[in-house]
Amino acid sequence: MSASLATVSYIGATILFILSLGGLSNPETSRRGNLYGIIGMTIAVLATVFGPRVTMAGIPWIIGAMVVGGGIGLYAARVVKMTQMPELVALMHSLVGLAAALVGFASYIDTSNPLAGAEKSIHEVEIYLGILIGAVTFSGSIIAFGKLSGKIGGKPLLLPARHWMNLMGLLVVIIFGWQFLHAESVSAGMIALTVMTVISLLFGIHMVMAIGGADMPVVVSMLNSYSGWAAAATGFMLSNDLLIVTGALVGSSGAILSYIMCRAMARNFISVIAGGFGTGGGAPAAASGDVQPAGEVVAVSAAETAELLREAKNVIIVPGYGMAVAQAQHTVYEITQHLREKGVNVRFGIHPVAGRMPGHMNVLLAEAKVPYDIVFEMDELNQDFPNTDVAMVIGANDIVNPAAQDDPNSPIAGMPVLEVWKAKTSIVMKRSMASGYAGVDNPLFYKENNRMLFGDAKKMLEEVFVALKS
Ligand code: NDP
Repeated sequence: MSASLATVSYIGATILFILSLGGLSNPETSRRGNLYGIIGMTIAVLATVFGPRVTMAGIPWIIGAMVVGGGIGLYAARVVKMTQMPELVALMHSLVGLAAALVGFASYIDTSNPLAGAEKSIHEVEIYLGILIGAVTFSGSIIAFGKLSGKIGGKPLLLPARHWMNLMGLLVVIIFGWQFLHAESVSAGMIALTVMTVISLLFGIHMVMAIGGADMPVVVSMLNSYSGWAAAATGFMLSNDLLIVTGALVGSSGAILSYIMCRAMARNFISVIAGGFGTGGGAPAAASGDVQPAGEVVAVSAAETAELLREAKNVIIVPGYGMAVAQAQHTVYEITQHLREKGVNVRFGIHPVAGRMPGHMNVLLAEAKVPYDIVFEMDELNQDFPNTDVAMVIGANDIVNPAAQDDPNSPIAGMPVLEVWKAKTSIVMKRSMASGYAGVDNPLFYKENNRMLFGDAKKMLEEVFVALKS
């Protein structure tokens, strides 16, 4: 393939990636967005593999790597459960970081195309920054994987003088950066690179370990952004324009998502980047399930729930992580259809951090074919709870916790929540009194107008559906 054809293909792929992001911003166009992304990526890979910069001898190696990598990806995509998606995404971010760091080392060691003067310095800055971002993304994402999969506890690790430690680390990185740029030989430069890599890895670990349970969503989207910048850095090191553009697209869209998440969690963007937030000045969150119940709750049966729904005119359903665990979305929709046929106004209220990844609930509801026009964002619906007969909370906990508004010492204080307790009756569907991801007790359960329907969400909803039909 000629250089000009490769360039045209890269431009085509870039346009498709931009269209893809545009499509993904709305559930109704997201399938099309995905399709644009797939076509763009296919063009990008083909134009790179058969482009002017790959020799014939290199092609079998690339195809071999693609078969192995593609095989692992295909296997992972087939076996991963919907509830494990966030961990898988975190793991993938770590691979982008690792690739950036490895490409950085490889292009520093590679002296086949020696550069001089300003060009050499610019290339070395690219390498240094590329490895730095790559290493932070790699270790941070591995810890995020551990936290999301429950292998590492949700409690934030708050080392004394942690901000000073971070500052010291930054200073050392700058000093070694200077040494790296003025190194006489590759082996001298390698010492500076290695020291910086170790500090970056430790910073990545420290940054994510310092995050409290309920604030993980911000970190996930931030690491998404970092992985984009790591890819852009790789593009600079390899002088690949498409990688630079693609990386910048992922990096900036991830940054916008982080900002949206911060706003949703009422957190400060800068304190997220510095790490160590998530305790909100109050008591650190306990591990899930640690919290002792503080009051009396009123349990109801599936039949009583059906009765409440049957008598309602306005119903708001608030899904959470438990709906994903139970895979209850299809039954939820069957109940919704049934109630709508009976003239009940049923709507869904989606909290921006419900579940375990951005858009988690939207994906599940779209999978169950719930029409988009009855799915609302938290802000669009919160004022409607006082006029709602039944607010049905399905496997959600932190996102409906009134302590976020009432208790300034709560670890989730200040986080906007869906005000389900303002409905005439709220029904919380979960298996036990265990706390949610943030590990805090939920005063909603003890409110006079709240009812608890204990059990697996899918099983209980099936019982409710049977009772509704009878
Ligand atoms: P929570 O984690 O607060 O609560 C989920 C509840 O679901 C649990 O209390 C659990 O109670 C219940 N549950 C679990 N399995 C089932 C089941 N099979 N049937 C019925 N209930 C079940 O989830 P929310 O969605 O309310 O809030 C999300 C939390 O996750 C927030 O703290 C958010 O910050 C955090 N987070 C979000 C991310 C994102 O990007 N969206 C990423 C990382 C973290 P029980 O065990 O008693 O059944």
